Amino acid sequence: KVERKLALVTGGNKGIGLETARQLAKGGVQVILASRDGARGEAAAQVLVKEGLPVEHVQLDVNDSASIQRAASEIEGRHGRLDILINNAGTVLDALDKPPSAQTLETWRKTFDTNVFGLVETTLAFLPLLKKSKAGRIVNVSSRLGSINDQADPTSPYYDFKVPAYNVSKAAVNAWTVQLAHELRSTSVKVNSIHPGHVKTDMGGASAPMEIVDGAKTSVELALIPADGPNGGFFHLGERLPW
Ligand code: NDP
Repeated sequence: KVERKLALVTGGNKGIGLETARQLAKGGVQVILASRDGARGEAAAQVLVKEGLPVEHVQLDVNDSASIQRAASEIEGRHGRLDILINNAGTVLDALDKPPSAQTLETWRKTFDTNVFGLVETTLAFLPLLKKSKAGRIVNVSSRLGSINDQADPTSPYYDFKVPAYNVSKAAVNAWTVQLAHELRSTSVKVNSIHPGHVKTDMGGASAPMEIVDGAKTSVELALIPADGPNGGFFHLGERLPW
């Protein structure tokens, strides 16, 4: 019997995370749907289980070290390894209503706590389990708004979208991806950043052009790359993006 791959998706209770969990599970991956709110996460996992999909749940708040550690020990106890970590949980505060000079320190700190420090801490907690996999994959859900090339280029369609703390947090995620990929370059673990697209979710808004089903595709694609796949890149729907 071929063993199913095992994936954990943070922020899996709704939006792109929930759809990523669904698509991975449909593809035969055993999915651990992680959510900061236990009840909402359990309910979301049950929706997928009722669709006949191999999904379980774990509570994981990326802002809470104890919760991250508890989740990692629980997965170690249940499975002894992890093949795929999708760092999908993220937040945006004060979107587009404040110029860079008016962004409060509180917004900077809260944004970085979730999007950067929470992502790094979660990664470090699960890295020992990913190293026990034959082919560990880490997908960091970033954003094209974190591309410094786009943000500094007046001809880019993303130039005028200055959401300071959020964009800089995603630039930091991308830079972290490069750092970790370098360390892991001669191991079986690969780490990449992705841009999901501008997607119709609570974060992306109802007028976003992309449906959730398409917004999950890039995370799924990078989660399933083969041994000769990329390491330390930034992608959207099969294409490399500028940093
Ligand atoms: P949603 O707001 O729909 O979902 C965000 C998810 O992250 C929720 O499950 C939320 O949980 C979870 N989350 C937030 N804070 C924490 C935390 N401290 N611990 C654990 N989970 C947390 O957003 P999307 O689905 O749109 O976003 C998913 C990812 O995609 C994010 O990283 C986002 O930055 C990125 N992205 C989205 C784009 C878009 O257009 N939608 C564009 C580019 C990037 P809860 O329900 O409890 O709040």
